[in-house]
Amino acid sequence: MLKPYACDPLQSRGRRYPQASAPTHNEFQSDRDRIVHCTAFRRLVYKTQVFLNHEGDLFRTRLTHSLEVAQLGRAIARELGLNEDLVEAIALAHDLGHTPFGHAGQDALNECLRAARPPHAGFEHNLQSLRVVDWLEERYPTYDGLNLSFETREGILKHCSRRHAERLLQREPGGVGLRFIEGTQPSLEAQLCNLADEIAYNAHDIDDGVRSGLLTLDQLDAIELFAACRDEALAAFAQLAGRRLLFDAIRRMLSRQVEDLVSATSAALEAAAPASAQAVRELPPLIQFSADMRSQNRALKRFLYDNLYRHPQVVETTGRARRVVADLYAAYAGDPAALPPAVAGQARPHRAIADYIAGMTDRYALREHQRLTGETLFP
Ligand code: MG
Repeated sequence: MLKPYACDPLQSRGRRYPQASAPTHNEFQSDRDRIVHCTAFRRLVYKTQVFLNHEGDLFRTRLTHSLEVAQLGRAIARELGLNEDLVEAIALAHDLGHTPFGHAGQDALNECLRAARPPHAGFEHNLQSLRVVDWLEERYPTYDGLNLSFETREGILKHCSRRHAERLLQREPGGVGLRFIEGTQPSLEAQLCNLADEIAYNAHDIDDGVRSGLLTLDQLDAIELFAACRDEALAAFAQLAGRRLLFDAIRRMLSRQVEDLVSATSAALEAAAPASAQAVRELPPLIQFSADMRSQNRALKRFLYDNLYRHPQVVETTGRARRVVADLYAAYAGDPAALPPAVAGQARPHRAIADYIAGMTDRYALREHQRLTGETLFP
């Protein structure tokens, strides 16, 4: 069923530590299983997507977001003849490196590391996701990390600065950092996960935004794509209102984007006709929306940015969340005795503190913050 440009597990570039293949699993299924069973994956349940974990039980968390990305990604992969198992593995792992409190936590941790003496290279969640699967998980008898295949790791490292890529290459010559120096693309499966991520969060953030009361259904009229889908829902079901109207419109929005992506990408693949998964890496990105959908998508993102991510209530919460992370960092850096001995004893103390904080769930971070500062920032 796989197209010639799909990643074939039998052609994998392999793992850092060679491993006998399993009789019932291909390499990418084995990666997926390792990811689902790792500690960092379970922590995603209690990590913020946009709304803090304790603000409501029905908002997306990093875990449900990752599951939605995997679902969309797999559906599209199947349509395009790409490797579903690889897409699933990448999607489930893509957010493992997120700090507590979403981007607010990442920004605070980044500032702390850059201000450390000597200054550190900073904190970035994509690199941290790779760090989790390469080094931080402690599950196997003879090595650190999950020992994932090159293709899954390539997909996890979605962005990377040149400086970070050079550091990665020192450890792994010719490895996952190389494409950021050479300006080449990752596999189609990796490209697909990036767009499935966007489709997922644009849709679920509208849903969560309305659920939270920060967005209203009327306000969503301003989004061309949403308005068209809502009109279509009303044309099919004239009495539809409230939540069911919202859900039906979002469902149609998801379908339109998936269908657009499949047709634009199929056309691009047909035109470029890559002969192999390796040939794809030398071409421009092939997983794509049509020009019209790209511009509708930009408008949707802009709307969410202006009206949800920068809503005064979200900004206020974000400010407190940043303080929690910055206070934790300062407390641990100032008093290593406050850290668990295994963390305090590491060779690079600032990086060890950042890894420790990044691994925390929202509620663990809040408990630690209260223990160390005596303050309650989120009653
Ligand atoms: Mg994501």
